Formats: sequence, C-alpha cells, structure tokens
Amino acid sequence: MKLSTKNIHLGLEEIDPVFGSVTPPIFTTSTYRFKNAAQGAARFLGKEKGMIYSRFTNPTVDLLAKRLAALEEGEEAIVTASGMAAISLVLLHFLKKGDHILAHKVIYGGTFEFISRILPRFGIEVSFCDFSYEKEIENFIQKNTKILYFESPTNPLLEVLDIKRITSLAKKKGLITVFDNTFAPPPLQYPLKLGVDIVVHSLTKYIGGHSDLIGGAIIGGKKYLEPLFQKSFIFFGPTLSPFSSYLALRGLTTLEVRVKKQSENALKIASFLEKHPKIEKVYYPGLESHPNYYLAKKQMTAFGGVLSFVVKGKGGYKKAESLVNRVKIINLAVSLGAVESLIEHPASMTHSELTPNERKKAGIEEGLVRLSVGLEEVEDLIEDLERGLSII
Ligand SMILES: *Cc1c(COP(=O)(O)O)cnc(C)c1O
Repeated sequence: MKLSTKNIHLGLEEIDPVFGSVTPPIFTTSTYRFKNAAQGAARFLGKEKGMIYSRFTNPTVDLLAKRLAALEEGEEAIVTASGMAAISLVLLHFLKKGDHILAHKVIYGGTFEFISRILPRFGIEVSFCDFSYEKEIENFIQKNTKILYFESPTNPLLEVLDIKRITSLAKKKGLITVFDNTFAPPPLQYPLKLGVDIVVHSLTKYIGGHSDLIGGAIIGGKKYLEPLFQKSFIFFGPTLSPFSSYLALRGLTTLEVRVKKQSENALKIASFLEKHPKIEKVYYPGLESHPNYYLAKKQMTAFGGVLSFVVKGKGGYKKAESLVNRVKIINLAVSLGAVESLIEHPASMTHSELTPNERKKAGIEEGLVRLSVGLEEVEDLIEDLERGLSII
C-alpha cells in the first residue's frame, strides 16, 4: 500500500473484526480481563500476545503506533503523550552518567532546554555545534559521545541539514542518530531512509493537524525500539490516551493532502513576502534564494507550511509585535502544521526562554516572525498579511 492508503486502512481489520467499523474504535479501558490465571501469567511472561494494562498497550494506541511506523517506513513505533515526552524518553533511555550528546545548535526550544539544562543534572555531558559542517561535528565528537541529535528544516530559520551526510558520519563513528521530523513528516521527507536510527515526532503539529491534541512518537528499528519500550517506556509512563490517539489517527488520514497543499500555499506566501518592500528577508527552503535550496530539493519532496521572515528597519521587536497584532484571519498562536494559519513572534514567545545572547548566536533576530501556513484560501492569507504590513 502507498502512503495515504496505509494512513486510512492499515490495521483496521484487526482492531475490529466483529462489527466492521470503518473508523478505529476508541478503547477506553485501563485494564483487560484474563480468561484465567494461566493466561494472565502467559501475558506477563510475553508467551501470549494480548493486552495487560493500558499504560503499556491499548488497541487504539497500538493502531496509531502501527500506522506511524508504516508512515515513516520504520519497523516499530512507540506513541507518547507529547513530542517532548518522546524526546526526553529517548534521551534518558540511551544516555547515562558519563555519556556525551552532541546536538545541532538550532533545535526546538523545549529540546534545547531539556538537553542543555536537564541532562547535565544526571551527569550527562552535552555540546552543541553547527551540523552544517562535517568537520565541526568531527571536532566536537568525544570518546564518550553516544548520540547525534538534530532536526531539519530547523525552527524557526528553516535551515536544511544534509541528513545523509550526517548519518554517514555517525555510522563511521558508531553513534546513534536521533532526528526530530516534526517539521517535515512524510511524504515531505523520510529520514530513516537517509540513515537516521531513531525518528521522533510531535503529533501535535502536522500529523494531528487540527490543533486538537498533544502527542508524540518514536519510530525506528526493532533493535532500538523494543528495549526502549520494555526497559523505559512502561516505567516512565508517558502514555497517550486512547481518545487523543483516535484524533491523531483521524489527522493521519488526511496528512498527505494537507502537507502538499500547505507547502503550495507557503511557497506562494514566501514568494509574495520576498518581493514586499517592508520585508528584509524570508526564510523558506522552497525559495531559490534560500542557501540550502538545492539540498532541500534533493532531500525533500516539498518544503512544508512553515516560513519565517524579518521585518525591515530599526525597532524590529515592536514592528513584529504590531504585525502579529494586526492580522485578522491568521491566528496569533504558537504551534504549527494545523489547518488554520498561525503566526508568532519567536523573540517574545517560542524562543523567549533563550537569553538574548543565545538567540543572537542562533540567528533569531528581534524582528523575526514565524508563520505556519494552513489550508485557508491563499489569497485571503496574502491579503491579511498585506493589511498587517501596510500599517507598520
Ligand atoms: C512542538 C515541537 C516539539 C514538542 O512537541 P510537543 O508535542 O509540544 O511536546 C518538538 N519538536 C518540534 C520540532 C516541535 O515543533
């Protein structure tokens, strides 16, 4: 089966062979009856497949995991209560005292906080460097390095990293690569095919796609996922609810058409902004002016719905604020990847946890605005931005 067919049909037979429901049932049970003591014992020993307790497994949640594994073309998936739960679980599972993790210098704000402020409390060494340069990664790799962590396109500057080059280097050095694919879920790009070991996702964004759930996922080979599940997941306990899993399953059915249309709309808006006299620069990998345009074209099938731009002139902070205050159709809200367009000001919102110096180092200007383009008529969105920009 191809992508959208799997997203709509995979595993439905098994989850409801009784009534033939065409949508996944929501199993709102915390526990499961055993026929007798022997069966209970066999389940605990793993000798018989079946449910025990919903912190571990639940039919609705399992169907989502199955479809997410198929989506990324990975062997297995674990569904988690949020994207941060997926990320923190993976890192705490693989790293122990004395290990070192090397991450790209621009990553999701929450992940940056987790790696730079929480991991060191457990005796884990952390460093950040620029993953666009292979030499720099090599210089930062230490004897105790275990994980290379990165995402592409990056947030909020939409820089594109060469996934294949990074994973080849990691393989040579015997390191595990963990890659956050929230910004470009399939069909936009397939990191596992480019050599990544473990993909993490925030289902909250494109995969859910309707701003109505928080969720996450970890996808990869059995060799990593099985111990992750048995030794860490069930004890950390970041289980997603069956109801949120159902919403994610529903979102998944339209993922392909949504991201394609969002990418089309975003490219039109990026081109409009690029020509606008009040805009200093636009960051969107689908623009020929983007420094990583050719790499993006090689690595991705389309470029997603997120773009960023800097308003021109002095007092960028205030100008960006007044723009986000003045648009009417586009919601002033963080998050991304949903059917409705969202606009935000990184310096005062998503990236406000960074110190001004950390922001400057990451290239996040005070006048930067991030836009997640939804599925509204693109002409309406352009008109909305035009109106907002005309007043600043
Ligand atoms: C939102 C996001 C996360 C965190 O996901 P939550 O579901 O909010 O926990 C991680 N990585 C990226 C790239 C994100 O955009």
